[in-house]
Parts: sequence; C-alpha cells; structure tokens
Amino acid sequence: MNIDKINIVKNSKPIKIWDLSILIFVVTVSVVAFFLLFNQKGAVVQLWIDGKYISDYNLNHTQSIELDVHLGHMCFSISDGKVFVVHADCDDQICVRMGEIDKVNQTIVCSPNNVILRIVGESDLDF
Ligand SMILES: [Zn+2]
Repeated sequence: MNIDKINIVKNSKPIKIWDLSILIFVVTVSVVAFFLLFNQKGAVVQLWIDGKYISDYNLNHTQSIELDVHLGHMCFSISDGKVFVVHADCDDQICVRMGEIDKVNQTIVCSPNNVILRIVGESDLDF
C-alpha cells in the first residue's frame, strides 16, 4: 500500500460531534415530518362508490352505515375515531379483514363492490 494513502487515512478525522448533531437533527426532522404527514388522526371518512364521491361521515360520531352495493349489502361502523367494515357481501372479504383505520390517507377498499373508504384530515375539509 502506498504511504500517502496510509497518511491520508491516519490524518482523516473521525466523525465530528457537529456532523453527528446534523445527522441527528435531519433524522429527527424526518421522523416528525413523517408523523405529521402520515400519522395524523383523521377527522372524517369519505365514502366513494364506483369512483364517485358519495358522502362523508364525522369520525367523532359513533354510527353504523348500511349500503346497498353491487354484490348485495355492506355495513361499516365508526366509533372512537376509527372506521371499519363490519360486513360486506364480497368474495375476498379483504375489506373486512383490513380492520380499523383512523389515520389521514388510510383507506379501506372493497374492489368487488368498488367501494372506497378514505380518511381525510381537518385541513382537507375546506373544499
Ligand atoms: Zn369487500
């Protein structure tokens, strides 16, 4: 190995405390931004059927909503700020198995019935 290279390695300083604090700062900001953007509690759930917006429901009002859908019947419930599908006439039952959602931008999709439940935050409500 050539002596110059060895000297360069010897003289290069280890990570300075300042570099480390910048790194910690960047990671912290990223994590906070992630939580603000994706982990925000939703305000309402929007109901879309066949790609059309039907209605929205306040997540603070406990209620069950019954729907007539392509394959029969569907029922979803809202309680404690969460929404979940109680029953759906569809083959895959993926919508039922998705369980509860309560964060902005989370969705429950029932593809066979073409139903989408999407949670939006308060900031999305002024449309
Ligand atoms: Zn389904």
